[in-house]
Amino acid sequence: MRSVSRVTVVAAAAAAVFVAGAWWHGVTWSDVRHWGTPRNVIEAEGEAVRIPLPQGETERIRPRVTALTAGAYEFLFPTGGAGGGPVRYDPCREVEWVIADHLMPDGVEPLVHAAVARVQEATGLAFAYEGYTDEPVSFDRALIQERYGDRFAPVLLGFQNEAQNPDLKGSVTGLGGSSAVPGAYGDEMWLRAGVVTLDFEDLAGILRNESDGAALAEAVIAHELAHVVGLAHVADTSELMHESNLRLLDWGDGDLAGLAVAGSGACEDV
Ligand SMILES: [Zn+2]
Repeated sequence: MRSVSRVTVVAAAAAAVFVAGAWWHGVTWSDVRHWGTPRNVIEAEGEAVRIPLPQGETERIRPRVTALTAGAYEFLFPTGGAGGGPVRYDPCREVEWVIADHLMPDGVEPLVHAAVARVQEATGLAFAYEGYTDEPVSFDRALIQERYGDRFAPVLLGFQNEAQNPDLKGSVTGLGGSSAVPGAYGDEMWLRAGVVTLDFEDLAGILRNESDGAALAEAVIAHELAHVVGLAHVADTSELMHESNLRLLDWGDGDLAGLAVAGSGACEDV
């Protein structure tokens, strides 16, 4: 038995950094359409920054997933999402992601890509890999950063140990989550700028010591990515979203049902 993870520590962060406000430089077509409605603003890297307008189409990139299973699932932000449901990623835009490869153990990178593919498949969200970053791994990261330009920071997946992040103490192998942030206008929220941190010492130990170590490590990473797309822990031990991994290697029925819901949120209209 191996306890692997916890709920995100970033869950409450978005409300703290969000401040409503008006900002009238650089008026765009969308601003004109929303004339009279102040563009939402967040604080990022010490400055007030307008929430970026969504880019691209307003249709789903990948088809909506219909869950064929039923079971337990929970959301980290059960309300406040666009359309009245849980807070979720926008399925009309790619979920961009990067790896902070510093301290990444040998053999882990293919497992990360496989885990992302599993979440993409189960949610119908379109993930887009952007390569390595030198951004330090932190749940306190700025949601908009100069290094990534005028958009929300991509999902960051990186590696730490207990000394660097005390939340990884003991048997905790990973942490994952995203921030719930209002759209450019109005009160409805979407998930943005997720973070996964993996205990590189625990991961190396799993790969070294367990007979099915690679599959188990991939399942741990998939669990953390499921937090990123909004799922919380459940009490049912037959689900991968149980707080401890009891040697499960694949999604349970409730996980699949929840991931389908996680990928079925509303798109942000431009
Ligand atoms: Zn967890």
